[in-house]
Amino acid sequence: MRNLEFQNKYDLNKEQIIELLKSDGNWLFNTADHVRKYYVGDEVHLRGLIEFSNICRCNCQYCGLQSSNKKVSRYRLEKEEILQIVKDGIKQGYKTIVLQSGEDMYFDSNKMCEIIEEIKKFDIALTLSIGERPYKEYKAFKDAGADRFLLRIETTDKSLYKKLHPNMSFENRQECLYNLKSLGYETGTGCLVGLPEQTIESLADDILFFKELDADMIGIGPFIPHPDTALRGELDPANFDTALKVMAITRLILPNINIPATTAMETINPQGRLIALKSGANVVMPNITKGDCRKKYEIYPNKAGTIDNPLTSRDIIIKKIQSIGRTISTTKGFRKK
Ligand code: SAH
Repeated sequence: MRNLEFQNKYDLNKEQIIELLKSDGNWLFNTADHVRKYYVGDEVHLRGLIEFSNICRCNCQYCGLQSSNKKVSRYRLEKEEILQIVKDGIKQGYKTIVLQSGEDMYFDSNKMCEIIEEIKKFDIALTLSIGERPYKEYKAFKDAGADRFLLRIETTDKSLYKKLHPNMSFENRQECLYNLKSLGYETGTGCLVGLPEQTIESLADDILFFKELDADMIGIGPFIPHPDTALRGELDPANFDTALKVMAITRLILPNINIPATTAMETINPQGRLIALKSGANVVMPNITKGDCRKKYEIYPNKAGTIDNPLTSRDIIIKKIQSIGRTISTTKGFRKK
């Protein structure tokens, strides 16, 4: 495997993926970097992330915002507040805005559509990351102008999925993803790496699921235990390396998609984003949420960027990206077909 000549695309089976996950990663990271350069070039796309509500009906066992965590001080931003952050983001140069939240049903179909329509009056791409909704709502958001949707499958190990997501169903999450894809969204998914009881085999299945869906974006993050959840405990630093491998293998098998260097990677390794950008990633999602809300959107502790302000964090990230010879994209950054 590691002695193969460089190819442009790799059709890997489950055994080969497992072999790569168990390897030291050197061949893998280098090759993923080549494939990234060949297919999507040196440009890095910046997406401005707005965390507009931390209110959530779900109880995902790993997430600090789970509904049973009574220590969280809950907030939601109203339309005008969201639009103000969008405008500031556009001024700073963002060509994509990502609206992320817990599953906050206050934002019903009508409210979401109003926000989407207002945002789409600007010449930018809009990504939603607001969890599971019925087909007709996803359709309404698409008709209102939303371009992309992020919904991680989290894990394809069904029994693990069940344990981690009380009152949710793996089948429904999967169906949501296929609905999004069929509605014409650029569809993003991904998984957590290092969950208790998660196996290398199931990570290989996760990667094969990304391929099966033909995902347009994949976000991979190391699991970071949150002290106010049942999964509290020691952070395993090895999760970083494994997450990086899952990400790099994804680049090999879906070579032209958009792959972020995730905030969770930066959180457990101070150089995490740059390492990810050199191992297959081509997207960074700086947080442009303001003030207090950043601290309150604590899906895991010590989230990178929590104390930066939006302007300096953008400048710092741009300098870092340029320091490794990469450029900042000035386009909306859709998947290159
Ligand atoms: N409610 C939305 C957004 C979820 S937050 C949705 O369901 O899609 C975005 C991502 O944060 C989740 O998909 C999950 O993969 C990740 N996340 C949650 N808790 C985490 C933790 N403790 N460590 C690392 N990542 C976590």
